[in-house]
Amino acid sequence: MPELSKRTETFTDSVIRRMTRISNQYSAVNLSQGFPDFEPPRELLDRLAEVTKEDFHQYSITWGAQNFREALAKKQSRLMGREINPNEEIVVTCGSTEAMMAAMMTVTNPGDKVIVFSPFYENYGADTILSGAEPVYVPLYPPNFHFNPEELEAAFRQKPKALILCNPSNPCGKVFTYDELKIIADLAEKYDAFVITDEVYEHIVYAPHKHTYFASLPKMWERTISCSSLSKTYSITGWRLGYIIAPPRIIDVAKKVHDFLTVGAAAPLQEAAVTGLNFGDNYYKQLQDKYTEKRDLFLKGLDTIGIAHTVPQGAYYVLLDISEFGYESDLEFCEVLAKDVGVGAVPGSSFFRENVNHLIRLHFAKKNETLNEALNRLEHIRTKIQKHSSLSF
Ligand code: GLN
Repeated sequence: MPELSKRTETFTDSVIRRMTRISNQYSAVNLSQGFPDFEPPRELLDRLAEVTKEDFHQYSITWGAQNFREALAKKQSRLMGREINPNEEIVVTCGSTEAMMAAMMTVTNPGDKVIVFSPFYENYGADTILSGAEPVYVPLYPPNFHFNPEELEAAFRQKPKALILCNPSNPCGKVFTYDELKIIADLAEKYDAFVITDEVYEHIVYAPHKHTYFASLPKMWERTISCSSLSKTYSITGWRLGYIIAPPRIIDVAKKVHDFLTVGAAAPLQEAAVTGLNFGDNYYKQLQDKYTEKRDLFLKGLDTIGIAHTVPQGAYYVLLDISEFGYESDLEFCEVLAKDVGVGAVPGSSFFRENVNHLIRLHFAKKNETLNEALNRLEHIRTKIQKHSSLSF
């Protein structure tokens, strides 16, 4: 038989998504892959029911249904502080996963370098490989996950085509300050690079932190490809609705890439989601309050159990320190955690370029009762996991 493609040899399937399957196998409370177990806003579901009886069952325009783009342009213009043209500056994609991949293929040639902060959301590794680009990693240092501007400039000296910026950041929960973004912006300008953002957690930010859209920084609109989605904002991860916002010169090319990758996002779902895009500011305030409550509940529970963890400024992930259990493989630890404790987590090594295996990632985008159930199970972590370790020696 002929060989399969070389480009797929250097990465595995997504460990995040694999951990969901492992959690399901052991009926664990799945705090691995980040998605809610509570309902999306009722208005969206009601509208979805209506849409099934209306005429939205064929392809929408490839770069997104007109009314979806208009509603999105209106919302994002308000937030990003500039008038976004729904016809020339938006491509609607199948989730931000496609948006990021299309952005990478839009700006890079095989062999181009791309700066990625580490820790990073695992898709960026595969995105760079699939588009033929080469990642240049720049570390973010705990506990606040700051970067060293000199290390960042050294990476820019390698003449990267782009930098990937996940803000608010998955998995470390960092919200980049204006000053940090300004350092990145100045370097992007000095070394003439694009910035591809992943801003899917734009509405999940904890006071006093604030989200700044990178494209809103002085002179950055021209070189920023802003990627985001409706998944987290409206609790509809399965609808696969994402988008790219960028200047027309970039969007013209992104439209072509997207057209041949997927043709388009699901038409009925775009139509139903317009209801969400038209929500007033109060919706986003309530979302923030809801996640702040969940964060506080979950972190308090972890503190009571006595496990050291990060304190997210945004997004809905916590990194837990599992050094005390002495596992060499965090992947093995997560399998034991799912099987013996009944909680699904993602091994930290999926996110770090550095050799890190003492961290696991849990998320708290779940009903309070689910979080409490996970905390109840975690309370017994020391007896259950030690027992397993002693058995295996
Ligand atoms: N962003 C989510 C996470 O990090 C998962 C998204 C996905 O699986 N597409 O868990």
